[in-house]
Amino acid sequence: MIAVVGQSATDEQLAHFISWIEDRGFSTHVSKGDNETIVGIIGDTTKIDPFLLESMSIIERVQRVSEPFKKANRKFHPEDTVVDCGYGVLLGGGNFQVIAGPCSIEGDNLMDIATQVKDAGATMLRGGAFKPRTSPYAFQGMGPAGLDLLLEASRALEMPVVSEVMDPRDVQLFLDKGVHVMQVGARNAQNFSLLKEVGRTTTPVLLKRGLSGSVDELLMAAEYIMSEGNPNVILCERGIRTFETRTRNTFDVNAIPVLKHLSHLPVVGDPSHATGYTRYVRPAAYAATAAGADGLEIEVHDHPSQAFSDGAQALTPSQFADAMRRIRLIREAVTAPLDESGE
Ligand code: PEP
Ligand code: MN
Repeated sequence: MIAVVGQSATDEQLAHFISWIEDRGFSTHVSKGDNETIVGIIGDTTKIDPFLLESMSIIERVQRVSEPFKKANRKFHPEDTVVDCGYGVLLGGGNFQVIAGPCSIEGDNLMDIATQVKDAGATMLRGGAFKPRTSPYAFQGMGPAGLDLLLEASRALEMPVVSEVMDPRDVQLFLDKGVHVMQVGARNAQNFSLLKEVGRTTTPVLLKRGLSGSVDELLMAAEYIMSEGNPNVILCERGIRTFETRTRNTFDVNAIPVLKHLSHLPVVGDPSHATGYTRYVRPAAYAATAAGADGLEIEVHDHPSQAFSDGAQALTPSQFADAMRRIRLIREAVTAPLDESGE
């Protein structure tokens, strides 16, 4: 349930209202906008009489929120959330960022790839040190030494980094190393222990949609993180498993505007895992940008045929640079103000 508090309410009146609600065993989530303040009320709100709330002088209206996700819900927080990823890089609310780098951190080639993606316009660097592989015999990632290489590149190039955390026991390691954004991968999208653990930090989390996860399941996974206190969640559409076998996954471009409608959280598109093949990555990146994504995550490798993982979907640095030029143009088209008659 949300209670909309009018502009004329004083801070004291608002605080009084919040403690009145909390004294009744509910928790609250306050979102202050330019024109109104929204108090989200979480708990079994069937016990609250909306007419009683509406009779209070500072309350303008009361609305039941039927969706099970509350903190992630745009009704609780009408304005876009902007996530501060470090080094002054903001994501969401009109700030568009491109995260690029190899699937796995493999060694010294990381610095070279990082320099090239930065030169092409990427603002964040990715690379996995802990890899969720289908086969236990496949390369599992460099582990902590990989994070060291990633952070070395981060410091040298002054750009924030994104890396996947698979195990709740590793969250502290990621914090100690200074990873700017922790990625929760598709295979862990419903690993509730992990979601809770990253939720107990304030480090931004890039949360991927599950392999066969619905939009609502993704939003509930975000709710798990936020319910523990971490508001810095970035949603990621990375394709879902369907009957189609021509591509690695099916890119649900629809999910981008749907998520942005339902939630205030930023949404990133991942055309690499969505398609699985280098030749399809750029068109899918353009589609995600046109659909209003707040950012993209793209895998780039200097020698894709020698990559330790996901070489088949990697762009070369020059393909990535070409993609960035078009992404910039598409972004301009999507955000250009229209004349007054335009819709
Ligand atoms: C990755 O980003 O390399 C990855 C494993 O992604 P996903 O969880 O989307 O498969
Ligand atoms: Mn990958």
